[in-house]
Amino acid sequence: MQRILLNIADVCERSRVNGPGLRSVVWVQGCTIGCPGCFNPHTHPHRPMRLTDPKDLALHLLQIPDTDGITISGGEPFEQAEACVLLAQAIQNGGRTVVVFTGYRFEVLAASRLAAVQRFLASIDLLIAGPYIQSLHGDGSRWRGSSNQTVHALTDRYRDELEDAVSTTPLVEIATDGASQMETGFPDEDDRRWIDKITGAVPTSITVEAPRKERTKRCLNPIDPS
Ligand code: SF4
Repeated sequence: MQRILLNIADVCERSRVNGPGLRSVVWVQGCTIGCPGCFNPHTHPHRPMRLTDPKDLALHLLQIPDTDGITISGGEPFEQAEACVLLAQAIQNGGRTVVVFTGYRFEVLAASRLAAVQRFLASIDLLIAGPYIQSLHGDGSRWRGSSNQTVHALTDRYRDELEDAVSTTPLVEIATDGASQMETGFPDEDDRRWIDKITGAVPTSITVEAPRKERTKRCLNPIDPS
């Protein structure tokens, strides 16, 4: 039987901007949607990057302490639905939650006749759906690159606390080890100018969160993020 592998662009083990609470983020490689102005154009080509057994990846991510679960982003997770199902189910079986960002509209996915798409939908707790539209960017909403995108609680896990979870999630996160820098989140032009200003002064090995309203910066201890 052919082994199903997940093609990954990147992994961030601890993030607070890509869904509720503290989450590991998996950016998959490959997306054919091609939204103009996409924040992650390097994830578009369907070329092999890190080919990983999804169950092994889940075992690794389940060992990271204190996370609520994982977020699968991209790239386009539904273009690797079969591998994402294995990852998502293993995470849920381990007692943690699954958040997915997709460029497909929810109605399109719900109507799909592909069994893998339906199995993937059934193993997602929270789905953020819809293409990125540049002209609708920057309405200040967490978890959404543009205001056309929709948030769907597909299980009961976040249904009651959705509003609270949205409002307490930071907008931007920057991790740097001094040699390289990873930015993730949903910055607008104003945020980007602020990020450019502070990153020149940031020392090594910290994460900076930039909630738009407060304009604070906070160091997260990578061992104990409280
Ligand atoms: S669906 Fe996502 S990864 Fe693909 S082009 Fe649009 S924003 Fe970028």
